[in-house]
Amino acid sequence: MKTYYTHSLGQKKSWQALDGDAQTDVVIVGAGITGCATAVELCERGFNVIVLEANTVGWGATGRNGGQVTGSLSGDQAMLKQLRKTHGADAEDFVWNLRWRGHDIIKNRIERYAIDCDLKTGHLFTAWTEKDLPEFQSMVDDAHQRGMEANVSYLTKDELHERLQTPLYEGAVLNTKNLHLHSLKLCVGEAMAAESLGCIFHENTKVTNIKTTNQQLVEVETPTGTVRAKHVVLAGNAYHRLLRQELAGYLFPAKLGNLVTKPLGDALCQQINRDDNAVYDSRMVLDYYRITQDGRLMFGGGTNYSGRDISDVAKILRPSLEATFPALKGVAIDFSWTGTAGIVINRIPMLGKVKERIYYAQGYSGHGMATSHILAEIMATAVAGENEDLNTFESFWRWRVPVPAAAGSAMVALGMKYYLLKEHLAGRA
Ligand SMILES: Cc1cc2nc3c(=O)[nH]c(=O)nc-3n(C[C@H](O)[C@H](O)[C@H](O)COP(=O)(O)OP(=O)(O)OC[C@H]3O[C@@H](n4cnc5c(N)ncnc54)[C@H](O)[C@@H]3O)c2cc1C
Repeated sequence: MKTYYTHSLGQKKSWQALDGDAQTDVVIVGAGITGCATAVELCERGFNVIVLEANTVGWGATGRNGGQVTGSLSGDQAMLKQLRKTHGADAEDFVWNLRWRGHDIIKNRIERYAIDCDLKTGHLFTAWTEKDLPEFQSMVDDAHQRGMEANVSYLTKDELHERLQTPLYEGAVLNTKNLHLHSLKLCVGEAMAAESLGCIFHENTKVTNIKTTNQQLVEVETPTGTVRAKHVVLAGNAYHRLLRQELAGYLFPAKLGNLVTKPLGDALCQQINRDDNAVYDSRMVLDYYRITQDGRLMFGGGTNYSGRDISDVAKILRPSLEATFPALKGVAIDFSWTGTAGIVINRIPMLGKVKERIYYAQGYSGHGMATSHILAEIMATAVAGENEDLNTFESFWRWRVPVPAAAGSAMVALGMKYYLLKEHLAGRA
């Protein structure tokens, strides 16, 4: 699929498919941001790593997303509720650090490996209605108590409208610690960083089966060869169908759409989004957008929680785009596409061991850019023998829907309709 990201990637390195059998310390299944970030973490710790990717590096949600690196950790409230029972007052610190850890990993990695991924800073989290404002204010107060006065501020409606030329929203939280970037360039950059440390990548190599053969090794089968490894990391997220007996019923696919306009020119970009912030709003099914490095508007939304594809993304998203920025009425749209994100019912990202020696991380519920880096670090630490944070994630209670995937997605869709109805009744939709 041609997306803005593949269009603007520049010269892409490609990797040969697996041809024959191999043996290594760790085999990673899937080369999205989870797989590539885990590869870097493991190689930095001295492991030999092979990454097997069914399509091409970054082909999944990673190469199709909004490119926003936010501190809005999915499932944070559910995590806090459970952690308070076991960790007491430390629960708040655990979740707070988790919220921001991914940002530091990403920034350090970009710097250390000189990854050019159009990095910018600054997000506006916009209030759809006045009812959101008390919560926004308390979000800012919390951040200030945690020492983020320089990064986080509350904007009134007028202050927001000085920055965004839109009739929408009642106020906003400005956060200058949050990042936005070209997610495919970051992913490919991390793959190349891992490769520089000895990692071997194989594209167009779909893993068809994973078998534990004895106490020491796991066999990962593909049509063109088998890789034997001491450990496996499953990083296929919403796109993989492996180990269904253990994993089915936890993760549900949601389709999201993204479009990118023609280049708008510096003056128009500055007119509609003065400070070049990435923006997302406070609704359950939200709009999110940002200006790309070459001055186009990238605009996403239209989530379909039933997992069915969105037929004409540009047609569906155009009314929201034009309602957001009337100055862009009739603007030409150069690219549009869909992608699949993995949704977990209580929204707590899933991390743990499927069975001995087989790790997995998935289900970031639309917030994967920062979270994937945090979970990659935790998985690599666990492979190296330190399990504390992995155990904490494994201890989280998870909903498993004991029905076929399609019926599970229908339940998620139904649940979302319930929340949308609540938003509508509360005047938020
Ligand atoms: C449209 C859209 C917008 C989004 N916007 C944002 C955003 O702005 N900010 C944010 O934080 N998050 C966002 N997300 C979520 C984010 O993109 C994901 O959470 C993240 O990219 C997940 O990365 P991943 O590596 O785990 O999975 P993916 O990127 O989906 O990668 C999984 C890879 O595994 C491969 N694979 C699957 N099965 C196999 C197999 N059997 N063998 C080998 N390989 C296999 C696939 O080909 C794929 O390349 C968005 C998601 C979508 C779809």
